[in-house]
Order: sequence, then C-alpha cells, then structure tokens
Amino acid sequence: MQQVTLPDGETVPALGQGTWYMGERAARRAEEARTLKHGIGLGMTLIDTAEMYAEGGAEEVVGDAIEGQRDAVFVVSKVYPHNASKSGTVQACERSLKRLRTDRIDLYLLHWRGRYPLSETVAAMEGLKAAGKIRHWGVSNLDTDDMEELASVPNGGNCAANQILLNLTRRGPEFDLLPWCKERGMPVMAYSPIEQGRMPAQPALEQVGKRHGVDRFAVALAWVLSRPGVIAIPKAGSLAHVEANRKAAEIELSPEDHQLLDQAFPPPRRKVSLAML
Ligand code: NAP
Repeated sequence: MQQVTLPDGETVPALGQGTWYMGERAARRAEEARTLKHGIGLGMTLIDTAEMYAEGGAEEVVGDAIEGQRDAVFVVSKVYPHNASKSGTVQACERSLKRLRTDRIDLYLLHWRGRYPLSETVAAMEGLKAAGKIRHWGVSNLDTDDMEELASVPNGGNCAANQILLNLTRRGPEFDLLPWCKERGMPVMAYSPIEQGRMPAQPALEQVGKRHGVDRFAVALAWVLSRPGVIAIPKAGSLAHVEANRKAAEIELSPEDHQLLDQAFPPPRRKVSLAML
C-alpha cells in the first residue's frame, strides 16, 4: 500500500475508508463494521469519521470495527464548528473517544470553519495533544486564504492535514491549495473521491478503465491516488466495493491515461473557490 507522510514524518496509507452515512440504522451496524474490518484487513487502516455522521452513530460503528486491533488503525474524527470553542472542542473530543471506545484519536479535524476564531480551536487542539487525547490535529474544508490565516495564529503551523473535496470532477484545489499544502509537507485528504458514487459514465473514464480492466470508479480513485501527498477516503457499504477500491490502489495510470483524463476533466487554469459537500 502506497504511503503518505505527515509533517512529523509518520506515514499513513494513501487509501483509507470513509464512514459518512454509517451508523444511521441499527440493523445495518454489524454489516457496516464488518465492511470496515474487511478494509482494515486489506490494508486500508486509516478510517475517517466525525461526530456529525449519524450524530455519533458512525463513530460507534468505527468503535466496533477497531475493537481488538486499535493499534493497527489510524483513526480520524472531526469536531463540529459549533463545538469548536476552547472548552467545547475538549468536551466533543471526550464524547468521540467514548463512542470510539479508545483512549486517543490519531488525527482530529475541525470539520469546517465556524464562528469560533481559528486561534481558539488551535489552542484547544494543542491542549488535547498535550494531554495525549489526540496525536495530530488538522482542518477540513479550508481554502488557501483560510490556510494562510491558520498558519499565522500561534501553533497554527502544527496543522497536520487539510481534508477537502477533491476528485476528477472537482479539480479546483489543484490550482493553489494543493501546491500550498505540498510546499509545507502537509497531506491533503480527498473526500468524496468518487463523487459520492456519481462519477459520470464519461467515455475517457470508460476507455482508461478498459485498458486496466476496471470500472470508472476505480479509475477515478486511481487518479486521486496518483496525486502526490494525497490520501483518498472512499466510503464503501459492501465487501465488493471495499475490494474494488483496494484494487484501484494497484492501478498505475500511464501518461496516455492522464492525457485522456485531462482532456475530459481539464485541470483549473485559474483560482476556483473550494467547494464543499
Ligand atoms: P465517496 O466515497 O466518493 O462515495 C461513496 C459512494 O460511492 C457510496 O454511495 C458508495 O456506495 C459508492 N461506492 C463506494 N465504492 C464504490 C465502488 N467501488 N464502485 C461503485 N460505487 C462505490 O463519497 P463520500 O462518502 O461523500 O466521501 C468519502 C468519505 O469522506 C465520507 O464517507 C466521509 O468520511 C468523508 N467526507 C468528509 C467531508 C468533510 O466535510 N470533511 C465531506 C464528505 C465526505 P455503497 O455505500 O453502496 O458502497
């Protein structure tokens, strides 16, 4: 499995697993945990969740999936912006730890920017790190200007990752945000890497897929994984989808493949504001 390096030198798998919409129905919980466990077994040991997903339900599913193998997994969770005050962040983290049934979160993200100053959230994150409740902290849905502001607050430079919407149909961040993060050795986590299962049945995607014997979703995922310093976190609800996603990490797109994909999904030529789902 291809690895991505965090600013402090620790490495994580470039392909992880998302959990949005997991934990919504009790009847599905065991199967969802089984799916995540299967992915962990295949090397997709980075799991992304959030207090927002099913209002804590997804974190509980992750708790089930990592039971007995906590040390093998890199757990990412997120605090709601409305909880991201100095004390609110700490309390939200404690609640997440309980639902995850673990003593630490490996990477804790501010889900998106809200009313609390970045300096306040950063101070809370640094406190959680010092207390051993989280190992790294980062942000999500922050565009380049927000990242500049973050870098200017005390300890803002300790941000370990930015999780953003990035896929073949959402290439805007390639213009400025990806280079900004790359310059600082900060990984980008690409969410919705297959556009929430709505990747269009586009001829270039089909053609490249045919060359590699895979479908368009695998090509889209392989494209995200071909970006240096980028972690992809597709969400899969079935063993078949987990296996297909894992296989996509083995695909090496050729320069001809990239050319075809660039023609069909042109890279940005100017600044595009960061989109969010
Ligand atoms: P996604 O991973 O692009 O797509 C998930 C959808 O694609 C699901 O409907 C899934 O269906 C389907 N799928 C998965 N693997 C497939 C395959 N191999 N072939 C065909 N379809 C497949 O979208 P996402 O869930 O929005 O994003 C991934 C993760 O990123 C989330 O789960 C969440 O952890 C994170 N995220 C973060 C933010 C943020 O603001 N920070 C926002 C959005 C998402 P099945 O369930 O049937 O497999």
